[in-house]
Amino acid sequence: MSAPEDSAPAGDGGPAAAEVPADVTSRAAELRAELDRHNRLYYVLDEPEVGDDVYDELLNELRDLEREFPTLRTPDSPTQRVGAPPLERFEPVTHHEPMLSLANSRNEEELRAWEARLANYLKRLDITASQFSYTTEPKIDGLAITLTYEDGVLVRGATRGDGRIGEDVTQNIKTIGSVPLRLKTSSPPALIEVRGEAYLPIAAFKALNERRAEREEPTFANPRNSAAGSIRQLDPKLAAERPLSTWIYGIGAVKGLDLPTHMDEVEWLREQGFKVNPDTDHHQGVEGVVKRCHWWEDRRETLDYEIDGVVIKVDEKALWRELGVVGREPRWAIAWKFPPTTAVTTMHKVVWNVGRTGHLVPFAMLEPVHVGGVTVSTATLHNEEDLARKDVRNGDEVVVMRAGDVIPQVVSPKLPRKNKSARKPKPPKKCPSCGTPTVKPEGSVFTICPNRTGCPGQNWQHVKHFVSKGAMDIEGLGEKQASVFLDQGLIVDVADIYDITEERLVEVDRFGETSAKNLVAAIDASRARPFKRVLYALGLPGVGFVTAEALADYFGSIDALHEADPEKIVEVDGVGPIMAEQIAESLSDDATWALVEKLRTKGLRLEADESERRAEGGVLEGKTIVLTGTLPTLTREEAASLVKAAGGKIVNSVSKKTDYVVVGESPGSKLTKAQDLGTKVLDEDGLKDLLENGPPPEREDVPADADAPADDQ
Ligand code: NAD
Repeated sequence: MSAPEDSAPAGDGGPAAAEVPADVTSRAAELRAELDRHNRLYYVLDEPEVGDDVYDELLNELRDLEREFPTLRTPDSPTQRVGAPPLERFEPVTHHEPMLSLANSRNEEELRAWEARLANYLKRLDITASQFSYTTEPKIDGLAITLTYEDGVLVRGATRGDGRIGEDVTQNIKTIGSVPLRLKTSSPPALIEVRGEAYLPIAAFKALNERRAEREEPTFANPRNSAAGSIRQLDPKLAAERPLSTWIYGIGAVKGLDLPTHMDEVEWLREQGFKVNPDTDHHQGVEGVVKRCHWWEDRRETLDYEIDGVVIKVDEKALWRELGVVGREPRWAIAWKFPPTTAVTTMHKVVWNVGRTGHLVPFAMLEPVHVGGVTVSTATLHNEEDLARKDVRNGDEVVVMRAGDVIPQVVSPKLPRKNKSARKPKPPKKCPSCGTPTVKPEGSVFTICPNRTGCPGQNWQHVKHFVSKGAMDIEGLGEKQASVFLDQGLIVDVADIYDITEERLVEVDRFGETSAKNLVAAIDASRARPFKRVLYALGLPGVGFVTAEALADYFGSIDALHEADPEKIVEVDGVGPIMAEQIAESLSDDATWALVEKLRTKGLRLEADESERRAEGGVLEGKTIVLTGTLPTLTREEAASLVKAAGGKIVNSVSKKTDYVVVGESPGSKLTKAQDLGTKVLDEDGLKDLLENGPPPEREDVPADADAPADDQ
């Protein structure tokens, strides 16, 4: 139903107008209003209330009605319009050429039907199968953007908006490292609109959500919303903090450049420095297209970005003009849509777990449902605040999403709610693991189990975190073993892991001799992990890996951090006042500090070694440096230890306090930010010079308006 007649080439005819029954008119009006509301929630507010399958079902119902009764198809119908009008808080941008949507096919049959209609249409124009071909590329599930370059210089970045008028988001777009500020060619077209999709890589989305949850901020429902939310907000600093990226796939209006095929277009864009998907492919007939669509479907879960289908385009651009556009969809392209990653099911109830830092964590028990290729019966609700924000209630029908290997999550209740008296789930009065009465500290939105050291649930979560990859990385000690070891009393806390012997493993958990030997060796090897990883493994509230690294770098040892008060801790890059308080508070907690001391006796590194530590009195004393991109000869670690050995400080993000940004190949958004802030930018040679000779003296003698030669600056 999603490849309807209205996406067929003109001339195929449509049913004659028929009298529209009153109930059909009112249903169509209802559907239009409902779809408009969802469009606003999805495109304008980046907060969809329903899953795409629910939305598509409503849209298809309206399409079917309009097909049967064509007089219902008004120009403002959601079937004829792209997206939603732009938000007023952004400057409007009129696209030189409209940004369209795409017709859909959900399976091979629908795709072949589109191809047959297209081939027929072209045949009528005397164009035979050997005279045209197809391209395939992933359909990126991000936010559509358009980048306007005048004489080769980026002058504007905008969203799609309603297809005709978008929102000016130039400042935010400029923070994306993969967007060139200038085209590489020496003879650029006078004007060009470059089209693509901005997205947040899945790993970055997960990390962002983790950080937001740690900071008690609301989390995003999916990578698309987080990308859209990042670009469509007013503070470019926030956008710069998110590692957004782009895939560029086309050209809109252009003056002074004529590229005959889509493949030429893609190649030209690549040469100009745009990030173009390397797996864009070319096919002579539909068979290759179908094969490629299945190939993408198989790869989908292995990608670090979200795709929701494959886009198939006619390669020859001269034919685009012949084929034209119907409603909001070009006839020369179609999307092969993958099965949805969202589904609707009943949530029987919310149950609670206890997390690593004592927070009670809600998750949903669901009526099993097939989504994203698997059957799902439980889904996360992230945290208490998220649960309250989403307002899901026991017995509700809910939208569940499972994309890639992201844990299935409840996105929202399906409204309107059928059971009006459904009750809001409340956190339990006693910890579900140890039975200790739960508390909600003043000013916090989270209920916690206060039994920090004696709660088996918290201990289990902590052991899981302690042994995980970014932390102590103890291979062979997974969550199952952690649970058995705790249950059997082999360990009581994470420090006990270092007392585990081969004999005890064989006794307690039916380990074979070899696996017991391997595990003990892995435990032993983990003693060599650097201080920053031990600090991360400790699992202090709010301290993710990046923060642990910054703290280790700044303080150099757990003792120095222990002695520091919140006013000192807040000086560390990325640490806010609340987190600083929490860190100081948790390290001064007797039980936590006793654990630190116990870990010390086990030989773990509680201070940074020479290569991690900053030297005092070096030429870079007091200087803050950011590294970005790949340097020609030095690895990141080598560059960082040279800077530290010279007394300099490496930080992760560029701010007004940054003295230098050292840039290698493919730099990220940090370079853009440095340029915006006017921070000094160096290459590897510049860094080496700095390390050898120290910073040049401040030129106080140069008058502010002096017209100094460039190499004097
Ligand atoms: P679409 O996402 O199905 O397809 C068109 C878009 O695909 C283009 O505008 C372009 O931005 C993008 N695209 C990605 N990769 C591309 C490539 N390689 N080449 C060309 N284009 C590429 O259509 P749409 O109009 O953007 O949105 C409809 C989608 O949004 C549907 O999936 C619908 O379910 C969803 N939606 C959901 C809600 C909701 O409330 N859940 C509301 C509105 C829309």
